[in-house]
Amino acid sequence: MRLYALHCGGDEMDWAAFDPFDQRVGTRAYNPYFMYVITHPRGNVLFDTGVHPQMGTDPEARLGPAAASFDAQITPDDQIEACLARIGMRTADIDLVVMSHLHFDHAGGLEWLTHAPILVQREELSFARNPPVYQRLIYVADDFEHGLQWRELDGDHDIFGDGRLRTLSTPGHSRGHQSLIVQLDSGRTVMLLADATYLVSKMRERALPAVLWSPDAMVASWERIEALEREHDALLLATHELDYERSVRLAPDAWYE
Ligand SMILES: [Zn+2]
Repeated sequence: MRLYALHCGGDEMDWAAFDPFDQRVGTRAYNPYFMYVITHPRGNVLFDTGVHPQMGTDPEARLGPAAASFDAQITPDDQIEACLARIGMRTADIDLVVMSHLHFDHAGGLEWLTHAPILVQREELSFARNPPVYQRLIYVADDFEHGLQWRELDGDHDIFGDGRLRTLSTPGHSRGHQSLIVQLDSGRTVMLLADATYLVSKMRERALPAVLWSPDAMVASWERIEALEREHDALLLATHELDYERSVRLAPDAWYE
């Protein structure tokens, strides 16, 4: 079983998004996007899908006025088919998709995944379809409203029943956010946090980001994550980790076994 972390573009985002009280507010940082592939013996699983390629060509048409807040840095190589090609796969090779949540920088590749079941928290799908005013600009209905094969989850789920791939309900950033716990062949555990926190360091400080649904739910999720981290001596990977080249240890496309 391999875990591939695939870097798929990013944007330049103000530090205020990561932490409105950080002293770097007013300056921008490169905010990477990632998708992940896990080659489980029973199927290839994709965790998140990156951003839609239109964000590279006409971000305003895709995201509306919110596009001005992000200096999107997206090339054709960041589209899902190009990302999967880097590891010798095509979208048809993906057997199952797990969505952390449906914000535009995670759900933009779903258009190419109509053949596969898509695991999402029930609360996330309803939240994305009727987002509150403070998140409506970062959900793009075109990403996820086109006849996808949803499999709605209510809480934690052991995907293949063998404990190797488990979704972990981690609401806070959005109402139905979930993370993915991967147990590799070596016995090593990796927790793919997606946006349960933007930066692991900010989770340690209990410093809340600007984009969130519930601060209380987010802090409770952090406590769950850290309890499991201790239990499994897990490696934590957040999608938008700024020092991602270090956090994924090797090149962004490094895999772990
Ligand atoms: Zn998000």
